[in-house]
Amino acid sequence: MSQTQTARLMDGAGLARRIVEHSTARAAQITRESGTTPCLATVLVGDDPASVTYVRMKRSRSEKAGIVSRHVALPATTTTAELVAAITALSQDPEVHGILLQHPVPSHIDERAAFEAIAPEKDVDGLTLSSFAALSFGLPGFVPCTPGGIMRLLEEYDVDPAGRHAVVVGRSAILGKPVGMLLLAANATVTYCHSRTTDLPSMVRQADILVAAVGRPRFIRGEDIKPGAVVIDAGYNPGNVGDVDFESAATRAGLITPVPGGVGPMTIAVLLAQTVDAAARQLGDLRSDR
Ligand code: NAP
Repeated sequence: MSQTQTARLMDGAGLARRIVEHSTARAAQITRESGTTPCLATVLVGDDPASVTYVRMKRSRSEKAGIVSRHVALPATTTTAELVAAITALSQDPEVHGILLQHPVPSHIDERAAFEAIAPEKDVDGLTLSSFAALSFGLPGFVPCTPGGIMRLLEEYDVDPAGRHAVVVGRSAILGKPVGMLLLAANATVTYCHSRTTDLPSMVRQADILVAAVGRPRFIRGEDIKPGAVVIDAGYNPGNVGDVDFESAATRAGLITPVPGGVGPMTIAVLLAQTVDAAARQLGDLRSDR
């Protein structure tokens, strides 16, 4: 028997569009006032089809926003030293304001060493140790884009995490862990769940704010959602399916992100916003946009 949807949709696509429009206007203003156009460098090692597609999308969205796209494509045989040298050159290049190294790199490369070659002020993807430390100390810095997008969505829908129980399912360095840290900084009481969590449903049932970042289609069942909860589905699985069983969850949640059109579009919007912010700071405009 199908039940009625009670949840309000969180329109990430609409919010992302507005953020991109704002970044576009800001990029044009920086270009006008400084004579320099914000520039995002993308670095891709090898030719993994998914990575090629992601990078192509990021480049074309940057260009549409009036951000120069510089691309460095390296063969799959690139060594750690060669990749570090290429990224160091971008870090030292005054015409480059943001650097994105597409993850994953081939397994023979020391990925951490490569990320650490990104100058912190150009780390618009928020993946260096310096950015991570700033995040955990509550200091200014760039945040990983998907977690940053999730926090902006909560803000947009007037969800104040303070005092609420946020349950994050997933603890990856790019998504689960940092989103939990951002929620903690926003005064939520945070529980992390992962593959070793026993009795996940009982944890999910306690969530006022649930973030699903697992990478398993329809993994979170509606019957476990607390009535009225805010459900953020960061999952993106083949066939445009999230980590939450949307149909059943939407009959219990108060707010829910759809897949597609929820968290997904926010990631690239935050990337562009942080690139423009990085350019503004490097070009002497110390006003942060946020
Ligand atoms: P990941 O690195 O594979 O991490 C998955 C996390 O889920 C891990 O922490 C893992 O626990 C946990 N997990 C796996 N099986 C579990 C289970 N049975 N019960 C509880 N926890 C379990 O994935 P990710 O990169 O964080 O991505 C997660 C999802 O978000 C994917 O669907 C991905 O496509 C999506 N994503 C979307 C965007 C976007 O732009 N919208 C960006 C990034 C990722 P352990 O740590 O114990 O292994």
